[in-house]
Parts: sequence; C-alpha cells; structure tokens
Amino acid sequence: MNGARDILNYLQPETTVVAIDEVQFFDQAVIGLCEELADDGKRVICAGLDMDFRGVPFGPMPALMARAEEVHKLHAICVICADEASRTQRLINGQPAAFDDPVVLVGAAEVYEARCRECHAVFAARNGVSHE
Ligand SMILES: [Zn+2]
Repeated sequence: MNGARDILNYLQPETTVVAIDEVQFFDQAVIGLCEELADDGKRVICAGLDMDFRGVPFGPMPALMARAEEVHKLHAICVICADEASRTQRLINGQPAAFDDPVVLVGAAEVYEARCRECHAVFAARNGVSHE
C-alpha cells in the first residue's frame, strides 16, 4: 500500500464499513478519503495513536478526530505506576528518547511503552528545538 487512496482498491461495491488501523501513519490525504467515504454513506472507523512519543499530535489524527462524529479515547496501563496511560514512552538503550531523535536508529535497542502523563519523559531536543 502506497497511500491513503490505495484503500479504494480494497472496496467492493457492496462495502458498507471501512476500518483503518494505525491511521496515524497515513499522510494528510487520508482525511479527505475518510470524508469522501463517509459522505458516500459508508461507516468509517479509524484507530490510531493520537500522539507520538514526544506527546505531539500524530500526523492526520487531530483532523480526523475533529471531523469524526464519535471519538473514543482508549488507555493502556502505565508500566511505571499502573495509572491510565495516555502516552507512548520511547526508550533508546534504556533512556528516554530526545525530542529530535531520528525515527529510525540503526543498531539501537529501542522500546516503546505505555505511560501516564506524570511518568512520560522526553529529553529536550539535542539541537535546541523542542516544538514543531
Ligand atoms: Zn505512570
């Protein structure tokens, strides 16, 4: 699959429900596609992470959530304190990742774990930039 519009190749004329998982990884074109499908009378269900490991809204998620008739925020359990986890902690070699660490780090031991706001940590950007 190359892009959001490739989803159309998987639809049958009788398709009534379209479910997209990991929708945070799609580009912004998925927003218009979901609107088209919903306007066409299909039920569109998207699942994805609302924030990336930095706590920044993830890709098309804010726009999808704003346009959705219903939004359900589900929570994992924080691996540190067992409270409700709303964030993803990225650990590189056992330490919290920096804001601007590259998405792919060859050779590094990388782990993602569920954490609550209090237990979530992001090191300041190594290049001094801490906001998008
Ligand atoms: Zn916690």
